[in-house]
Amino acid sequence: MNFKRMEIGPVIELRDCIAGLTNLDFTIYDRTGQLVIPSLSPDPIIEAFSLSEKGRKEHRRYLEGGIEKAVLRKSPTVLKGPMNQYHYFIPAQIGSASLVLVGNAFYLSVKDPEDFASKGHDYGLSREDMRLWTKKIVPEDIKKVSEVYEKIHRLFNLSVKSSHEKSTYRERYRKTMTIMELFSEVEKDISEKELYNLLTDAVIFLFGGDTVSAMARTDGRFAPVLTTGRLKKQVEFVPVGSDHFLISDAVKNRRPFICLEAIELLRLGYPEDITSIQIFPLSIRDETFGLLSVFNSPLSEEDVDIISRMCSFAAFLLDTIISRKMFSTRINGLATMNLALNLSPTFQDPDTLYESIVEVSSKMLDAEKVSLMLPEEDGTELFIKAVRGINKLIAKNIRVKVGEGIAGKVYQESKPLMVSDIEKNLFTKTRPNYKTNSFVSIPLRIGDETIGVLNLSDKMSGEVFSQADMEFLRYFVSYASLAIKGAHYYSISEQMRTLSITDSLTGIFNRRYFDDRLFEELQRAIRYDSVFSLAIFDIDDFKLFNDTEGHVAGDEVLKAIADISRESLRSIDILARFGGEEFAIIMPRTERDEAFLVAERVRKNIAELMPFRWKNFPREKITVSIGIATFTAEVKDAKTLIKNADRALYGAKVKGKDRTVVGGTTDSIARGNTSL
Ligand code: GH3
Ligand code: MG
Ligand code: MG
Repeated sequence: MNFKRMEIGPVIELRDCIAGLTNLDFTIYDRTGQLVIPSLSPDPIIEAFSLSEKGRKEHRRYLEGGIEKAVLRKSPTVLKGPMNQYHYFIPAQIGSASLVLVGNAFYLSVKDPEDFASKGHDYGLSREDMRLWTKKIVPEDIKKVSEVYEKIHRLFNLSVKSSHEKSTYRERYRKTMTIMELFSEVEKDISEKELYNLLTDAVIFLFGGDTVSAMARTDGRFAPVLTTGRLKKQVEFVPVGSDHFLISDAVKNRRPFICLEAIELLRLGYPEDITSIQIFPLSIRDETFGLLSVFNSPLSEEDVDIISRMCSFAAFLLDTIISRKMFSTRINGLATMNLALNLSPTFQDPDTLYESIVEVSSKMLDAEKVSLMLPEEDGTELFIKAVRGINKLIAKNIRVKVGEGIAGKVYQESKPLMVSDIEKNLFTKTRPNYKTNSFVSIPLRIGDETIGVLNLSDKMSGEVFSQADMEFLRYFVSYASLAIKGAHYYSISEQMRTLSITDSLTGIFNRRYFDDRLFEELQRAIRYDSVFSLAIFDIDDFKLFNDTEGHVAGDEVLKAIADISRESLRSIDILARFGGEEFAIIMPRTERDEAFLVAERVRKNIAELMPFRWKNFPREKITVSIGIATFTAEVKDAKTLIKNADRALYGAKVKGKDRTVVGGTTDSIARGNTSL
């Protein structure tokens, strides 16, 4: 199975992120058991087992069985393998493809590998290999493991789904924006021909159309006015009769349709090289001005949707071109809208966007009161996200149940409502505060999904909202809906970024972020000939603490140490969880002596400020040992710097723990106090 790069990207990203957060590694397969992405590092247990042909075959069979089970069950599945080892199989759906993440092997008891050891020679494993290997195994707690994998399953399916949707919307957003831009540059006195030109160009350049014809209505048929593309010659003089059932249906329903049947294409009058025609009516209200016909171009459902919106807007312009009324206000409005919504090429902050939507729609329709309502949480109520002409404090507390009130009904039924004269309307009772007699409430939608409601009332001029206002609003909200969705995915991707650089237990930066920052800091130091220091610290006798107080208490200590350290550091310092019970501090622009002072402050605070007591751990204080390395000209890479800090840390341990040792020179060592 082939996966598109776009689809697989987020999967890899998330796998790496999970690996960084949890130290769990995964291999990713498709549903037939084909390898899609290898694990970050090889699984030693499986590697050993696969040394023999027999082992490889058995593992393969086991793997395929597990993958199938997980796909069918749609939930994480744990299985015991041929070496008595266990694996987690996590199903994940991206687009229409099923993937399965297979975690590295683990054991639940020491007995399992021991039982297998007797069979080891069948798989080409020597007794000595087996002994060494069995010795290394640390059994896992099944409850803990399952909990973690369940979480990963949820996280994976949630984030991959949203980033998959995100890229779809981003693409759609980009195309709509471009169309928007094209139209907003339209001159006041644009001719029909120029408008047709805009339409055909948009389809060719934006949607990769092969051949496109704009056709205008002339007595009983639609004749090409303007044709571009590869097969121009074949179609530019072929009119279609509006009595052909395909054409008359499209006109009647004001819907795009596609014809792929050779016989119908012939009947319409096209030569054999035309294999498909997709027709978009240029209709507004009951009137169809023309057709946009796209030949031999496979368009996605998404693209058909965008093009048909573009066509209905073009029809709206055609109507105004013909009647010339209100045209310049509309075009100015479009330019404003473009400016307001298209502030930056990337997605923007949701609240700013909501404000722009309200602002722009109010300006363009000359409405005094506007509110934008979106559902929250479980989707049973709508909240006001931005208002104009209504007190903001009051608005903040307004919520509308879906299905109730005007907005609630419009949202539920996903149909716009326009009332020209509110006095004659059955909703009058619920709207005592509105002075004029006209309002519009229109759903915001993307495809079949309704995402909110925009309400406008009280035209400042005192007039009522017109059909033309409504047409315009329809176009505007389809555009605004996309922008809202885009902003929503932008904020999800920001959350994902934060997650991917944070250590889940302590809330400080994780190892992945630390590695990136250390690399950057090193590059900077080399390039600008500047200095910085690195400290690595490790909790003293932490194994003993875990053994005497339990792992849960141990985790609390890790959290407290992260908190105390963070409080003890300067704002320029970067604190990260370096490993299990090891932390690291990058100190930019910090010389050796100053780094020592900073580290000592951290060390003393940890010893003094631990916010809780313990019973069985036989030490008065929880202490740490710290090793420091400072960047010098000889240090060429991050590895060396880490090694230097590690060596200094080892020195601190050897000298009796609870102290800071500065690496690199021999004279500045060991100035901390000793409590052991
Ligand atoms: P030393 O003073 O030499 O550092 O002794 P130590 O016992 O701290 O060192 P050792 O490396 O032998 O043990 C580190 C322990 O840290 C082992 C492991 O149980 C514990 N540990 C590592 N990560 C975590 C964690 O996330 N939570 C808890 N509770 N313990 C952890
Ligand atoms: Mg350690
Ligand atoms: Mg330790």
